[in-house]
Amino acid sequence: MSWQATVLTLFPEMFPGPLGLSLAGRALNEGTWSCTPHDLRPHGLGRHRAVDDTPFGGGAGMVIRADVVDAALSAVQAPADVPRVFMTPRGRPLRQRDVSRYAEGPGVVLLCGRFEGVDERVLQARNIEQVSIGDYVLSGGETAALVLLDACVRLLPGVMGSDESGVEESFSDGLLEYPHYTRPAVWDGHDVPEVLLSGNHGAIAAWRQKQAEEITRERRPDLWSAWLARREENEATAA
Ligand code: SAM
Repeated sequence: MSWQATVLTLFPEMFPGPLGLSLAGRALNEGTWSCTPHDLRPHGLGRHRAVDDTPFGGGAGMVIRADVVDAALSAVQAPADVPRVFMTPRGRPLRQRDVSRYAEGPGVVLLCGRFEGVDERVLQARNIEQVSIGDYVLSGGETAALVLLDACVRLLPGVMGSDESGVEESFSDGLLEYPHYTRPAVWDGHDVPEVLLSGNHGAIAAWRQKQAEEITRERRPDLWSAWLARREENEATAA
């Protein structure tokens, strides 16, 4: 059975978008996953199918109505164990471990916001996870949903070739990945680190580990502290 992505959106034509190409596109054509956009508009009210209204308490912008989202969620009828996720800058930051959890399950139902967002009551009542792809504000949840789907689909069985294995990637062990080099060995006067040409697999692994640690410490102190704490814990358990 294929992994099923259902996307509730005011812009269904944005899907699968770039995910119809390359690895994800091939997997889509082969039936490894499916992408079903579901238009929120027909669930809108009145002659104009209005999906939004002004915010209680005043303020700028419009808010997508709870009853509209609720009707759309009922219409898609995804099994109960499929996570429902609202893409929002107010959400929990998306992590690789979340991506793995989604990819290991039957699929996801993603809700894309527009305007100021979605009435909070339907998010609570429908037990919808709130997920952010980063500390910046997009104009709509669709591009965020595409990011989440891309990250999930590449983890589905058979999507990545063996030469693109996810085992040693950034975040897989809590560190950012080491740097990569390919031919030519000398480019524009710049050499490849000598150890990588040595054929000594132990030395290469040690160099890569050290690079990963240094890069993580420099660029992501948050990940570095967490990794150090985990290492200490593992050492204490092993002792
Ligand atoms: N008023 C909202 C706030 O300040 O949190 C921002 C609304 S934004 C203009 C419209 C929609 O884009 C949001 O409802 C959400 O679906 C999506 N969006 C914007 N930034 C996002 C992010 N960093 N991660 C996930 N979704 C995002």
